Amino acid sequence: MHLVHRIGWLRAAVLGANDGIVSVASILVGVASSGAAHQPVILAGLAGLVAGAMSMAAGEYVSVSSQTDTERADLAREKAELESSWDDELEELALIYERRGLDPQTAHSVARQLMEKDALGAHARDELGITEVSAANPIQAALTSAATFTAGAALPLLAAYIASGAAIVPAVVIVSLLVLVVLGALGAQVGGAPLWKGALRVAFWGALAMAVTAAVGALFGTVAG
Ligand SMILES: [Zn+2]
Repeated sequence: MHLVHRIGWLRAAVLGANDGIVSVASILVGVASSGAAHQPVILAGLAGLVAGAMSMAAGEYVSVSSQTDTERADLAREKAELESSWDDELEELALIYERRGLDPQTAHSVARQLMEKDALGAHARDELGITEVSAANPIQAALTSAATFTAGAALPLLAAYIASGAAIVPAVVIVSLLVLVVLGALGAQVGGAPLWKGALRVAFWGALAMAVTAAVGALFGTVAG
C-alpha cells in the first residue's frame, strides 16, 4: 500500500515535508561543519533538495503504479472466475460472511443478494479488500511527494542562504527544529495522538540526524583540511 492511500493526503504531505527538512538540514549542517564556504554549503543543500525530490517522486510513482497494476490484475482474475464458476464464487463469498459471524443460511442469502446486485463489487470488497479501484494517479502522487519534500527542504535552505559564516549551523538547526515541532504536532493532531508526543518524536529524530551529520562533517573536514 502506498503512503497516500494508507494515511491520507494531509499526513502524507506532513511526512514529505519532514523528510525534506531533515535530509536537507542534515546536509547543510554536515557540509557547513566541515568548514566549507557559504556557496558550496548552499550548492550541497540545493543538490540534496533536487535529489531528494526526484527520489521521492520516483518511489511514489513506482509504488502507486504497482499498487494499481496489482488491483487491476486481481479484479480481472475475479471477473473471469465469476464468469466461469458463479456457484463456486457464491460459496466462497458465503463462507467469508460465515467466518465473520453470520449463520450459514444468512451468509448464503447475503452473498446471493449482493452478487445479484454487483457480483464483482462484492468480491472485490469482501474477498480482495479493494474498496475502490485506486483513484490515485501515479503522476499526481509523484508530483505531490516531490512538492511536499521541496517545500520542507526549502526552509532550512533559505535559513542557510540568509545566514552567513558561523551563523549557518545555528540558523539551520533552529529553523528546522521549530518547523519540525510544528509539523510533528500537526501530524499528531491529524492522527488523533497527543500533540507534544508527536512534536517531541519528530524533533528528536531531526536533532539526531543533524548531530550525526555535523559530527561526520567536522570529522571529514578535519581530515581533508
Ligand atoms: Zn471471488
